[in-house]
Amino acid sequence: MFKKFMASVLMLLGAIEGASGKEKADLVIRGAAIVDVASGKLVEGRAIAVANGEIVAVEDDKAIDRSFQAAQTVDASGQYVIPGLWDMHVHFGGGEALVEENKDLLPIYLAYGVTTVRDCAADISAHVLRWRDEVASGTLVGPSIYTSGPKLEGPKPLWKGTIEVDSPAEVDAALDRLQAMRVDFVKITDNTLRPEIFLYALKAAKARGLRTSAHIPYALTVEQAIAGGLSSVEHGDYLIKAGSTAEAQISRDYADKKLSYAEASDKLVDTFDPTLARTEFRKLARYGLFVTPTQNMGRILAYLDREDHSKDPALALIGPGLRETYNWRVERAAKADAAAVERRHREYELSATLLPLMRDAGITILAGTDAGYLNSFNYPGQGLHDELARFVESGLTPVEALRTSVINGPRFLGRQARYGAIAPGKAADIVLLGANPLTSIAATRDIRAVVRAGTLFDRAALDALLAQARDKAAKSVTEIK
Ligand SMILES: [Zn+2]
Repeated sequence: MFKKFMASVLMLLGAIEGASGKEKADLVIRGAAIVDVASGKLVEGRAIAVANGEIVAVEDDKAIDRSFQAAQTVDASGQYVIPGLWDMHVHFGGGEALVEENKDLLPIYLAYGVTTVRDCAADISAHVLRWRDEVASGTLVGPSIYTSGPKLEGPKPLWKGTIEVDSPAEVDAALDRLQAMRVDFVKITDNTLRPEIFLYALKAAKARGLRTSAHIPYALTVEQAIAGGLSSVEHGDYLIKAGSTAEAQISRDYADKKLSYAEASDKLVDTFDPTLARTEFRKLARYGLFVTPTQNMGRILAYLDREDHSKDPALALIGPGLRETYNWRVERAAKADAAAVERRHREYELSATLLPLMRDAGITILAGTDAGYLNSFNYPGQGLHDELARFVESGLTPVEALRTSVINGPRFLGRQARYGAIAPGKAADIVLLGANPLTSIAATRDIRAVVRAGTLFDRAALDALLAQARDKAAKSVTEIK
């Protein structure tokens, strides 16, 4: 006991500079204008002291100079400081052959100011779980990772790497496995999953204190799924269903196989009523629902017929194997007839109108991209900025858009005490911007430096990460040839 006490005294003394009496900081950022994302206010002329991966003080420059001896100092005058960005829907996947290409995405996220990602399942979970732990222990450079591990699905689904469940006992066994992997939440999709098993999985996960994130089976109403315990809906177009005047009937007809998926979704779009949607969304909000619209993804897929992405500069950052997986959706889109294309446009345009309705109803919106393998031209890192821009285009204010990432992201995972603000006691995940993001959301793209768990990456270091990604992506092309 005494030994322990002495050790803490020595540690405390060690943190204080002998002669100056100043506390040691690894990094001090001076002269910054801090964006208080919660209040939407700007606090100018502040200095931020960082030690051991944590923000330890935020005061005016003089007060910080008096109290801290900094190993490294950054002059951020004229710059704007926000907490690191969270992308709440990404995928690492594409099979064992693409493991390295997926791992190479991690520094790209950092270079775009994304300091945390939520991985929503794919087929290389064991690797992602290992990267999560390596990033946390500081042996791997990248954003913090939260992951669902393999997702739950029904028998023989389209998706690879899932845990197939078709009975309550199988769900229980799957949840045992996921808990043994220490997953951060449970992802469920319904390609072949029976609705009653879906509802059982929600209930069983909730009973174990696990958060769930899912697509909603068409045979259920949205409220049935949310009342069943679902924590977050992935993809905003499911919310069209909640605003349909014929939702219950369409759900029944789909369950009875009287309607195909495409027919059901057409009917839902036709019967959508914004006034009803407002009422229904308020009901859903009372359950504490989170929704990840993945709006930019919806936009890209809906307009593949008329937008050419083959010259996108970001393509050069990702490996050839991952680029190859993009073809799946492109080929599928090319096969669609005029009516299907028209349907996709209509559905996207309607889903884009839902965002302000969700906000007004009190549904918590999450910024998530769906970036990763398969999801064509929705680029890791850059995609998050595209998503925030779509949110503003659809009616959120810039600060509301920022909240969906830096405040709502941590809240979903129960990490709000540690993230979401530039304040003492918060993790030192920080982005320095060249322009004010409260005025224009485009400012989030003007990144001057990123601090990740206390380590500074200035613009030159971030550019070096991107150059390295470009080199690796180009090298693998020749290797494949
Ligand atoms: Zn996804």
